Amino acid sequence: MKINRLIKTLIGFCFFSLVSAEMCGTMERYYQLEGDRAMQCYQEGDADNPNIRNLHIPDNSTPIKNVRLYIHTFSNADGSFPSVSEGRVQQQMDYMNEVYEQYRIQFVWEYEVHPDENYSVVNNQEYNSNQIQLQYNVDPSMYHNIFVVSTSGVDWAGVSHFPWMYGSTTTIGATFVDENYFGHSNGGINPISGKTFVHEIGHALGLWHTFHGVDEVTNCGNCYEFASGEEGDLRGDFCSDTRPHPTNVWSCSDPGGDDCEGTPWGETPVNNFMSYSNDWCQEQFTWQQAGRMHAWLSTHEIGGWVVPFNPYEMGDPNNDSFTNIQDILLLISYITGQSEPDQYEELASDLNQDGNINIQDIIIMINMILGNSVNQ
Ligand SMILES: [Zn+2]
Repeated sequence: MKINRLIKTLIGFCFFSLVSAEMCGTMERYYQLEGDRAMQCYQEGDADNPNIRNLHIPDNSTPIKNVRLYIHTFSNADGSFPSVSEGRVQQQMDYMNEVYEQYRIQFVWEYEVHPDENYSVVNNQEYNSNQIQLQYNVDPSMYHNIFVVSTSGVDWAGVSHFPWMYGSTTTIGATFVDENYFGHSNGGINPISGKTFVHEIGHALGLWHTFHGVDEVTNCGNCYEFASGEEGDLRGDFCSDTRPHPTNVWSCSDPGGDDCEGTPWGETPVNNFMSYSNDWCQEQFTWQQAGRMHAWLSTHEIGGWVVPFNPYEMGDPNNDSFTNIQDILLLISYITGQSEPDQYEELASDLNQDGNINIQDIIIMINMILGNSVNQ
């Protein structure tokens, strides 16, 4: 089984090296699921309103949003040879948190290996049928589900799902990344930049490609983003601080040529994670893109992925800096209905984070007080 997977991976590498394949499948998925809608520039929610976006542009005082990811991978039936190891997930996530830190977004994650040989190699039909998400997505209203897979015959390195698309937080929303593009390692035989995942999560949090308004809408139509910058907040990628440009496959140089009105493209955001430039020059999001991600993370669509802000320490619902008998008495009063916790008290009391305050939380709290290690 593993050998079979290796051969398919090698064939996949040859395929990619021979053709300049489109490495992100997100727009293709959008076309498939929602047809012509993907070519329009409807405002799909408040977060697409440039005034609301601007209110969400983060600065150093913006509370960090911690986004929950649930990272799945598949292995042989005996659990051997997972497509991605926990160590590589750790490297990728360390890099993600490094990149997103200045934009006041961080990620917390779970990792699970499914010993299911049906998906030790994923093909196009399996991917397009959404069967993997339908079988394995874990609580998509609380987690963005990630599948790191070995692939055969698919034309993407990564593919994601916009927040406003059907099923984003209910059934089929997920990000897929080919195992060969997931991780972060500079050295070794096969270095991985980790930027494919940075890009795909950009989509999951509401970002378009920077070239969206040129090559993914009708030429010179009402969604076309002009080089002049006219209506740049309402056209293309809805960000006027990412100048439009034709798709820059692998190039880190500004394009020559003009837009449909004859205006030269000029300086373009080749260093942007949401372009298709070469990995080595991708190094930033713009502040409007950061504002869009915060705005989308504040909507009912994907706001459930954010860990609720809690100024109280876990296990200290009376917020006196100690976990002690007073906190246990408080939990008992909540359980018996003698008092009602406010939102922060509730978060600090629900120690196993199952959405309820009950005897299980008291047991964990007793163990905290006794200094026992707790297996939650
Ligand atoms: Zn993309």
